Amino acid sequence: MTARSSRSVGHVTPGQVTLVGGGPGAAGLLTIAAVTALAQAGVVLFDRLAPHDELALLAPHATLIDVGKRAGNHPISQTGIEELMVEHALAGKRVVRLKGGDPYVFGRGSEEVLACHRNGIAVTVISGVTSAIAVPAAAGIPLTHRGISHAFTVISGHAPLTDNELAGLTLLGSTIVILMGVGTLPTLSQGLLRHGMPATMPVAIIERGFSATQRTTVSTLSTVLADAAAASVRSPAVLVVGEVVRLAFSGDAAAEVLVAHAAEFAMTD
Ligand code: SAH
Repeated sequence: MTARSSRSVGHVTPGQVTLVGGGPGAAGLLTIAAVTALAQAGVVLFDRLAPHDELALLAPHATLIDVGKRAGNHPISQTGIEELMVEHALAGKRVVRLKGGDPYVFGRGSEEVLACHRNGIAVTVISGVTSAIAVPAAAGIPLTHRGISHAFTVISGHAPLTDNELAGLTLLGSTIVILMGVGTLPTLSQGLLRHGMPATMPVAIIERGFSATQRTTVSTLSTVLADAAAASVRSPAVLVVGEVVRLAFSGDAAAEVLVAHAAEFAMTD
């Protein structure tokens, strides 16, 4: 069998896999294509961070399988997930692989697509709203603002950043968004300081975006470790490093001054 790919968006045919980006956790941030695919699914394999509270309603015909990985406790390995996905598709099921955020942002989505290709299974990817943008937005933090930051880098904190990465990010001087970064916060903050980023650079940690317990901790590069420890910050969280953090709902009073300054700056270009 050769691998096929389908251009249809949101339609799930038997024996096919659809990788669906479930967005950052709010049902309202599912795309129409995601909702359509779920409605047609025979099997849904879902992650811990995918929106699963309303899955029984969204996918009424589907067998729902929780393949969520919890820190330190991996109920199903990545290989196991891929095997399940392939097995159900080969059995002729309409398989939806529901992932948190966007499937291609640190979600191992591309590995799952390759697993389908290896097994001659048609696979479609439905993009989702990534937590990298939506979670800061839920805390009032835009990643760009004319005159303040005109670029952002989304980086995984799963492993500590290398000196080259820390130097590059410091040099770029724009917004830095870190996913999976709670564990590596010490090396990140100390590394950026070591590479010359100002100690006063604002940092925000937004935990559990879009849940009832969403919380933002606003700090600075030199104080974030102590502040995160005092607040017992936990994963899942999105970290934002950059001047745009001053625009956060719970940011400091400098936001108005910053925006006024940015407006002046914007008018000159
Ligand atoms: N593909 C996903 C990211 C997977 S990596 C996406 O596009 O959003 C998992 C990391 O995403 C978590 O460790 C955390 O850093 C972040 N994350 C995802 N959903 C989140 C949420 N609702 N609140 C806070 N962080 C979240």
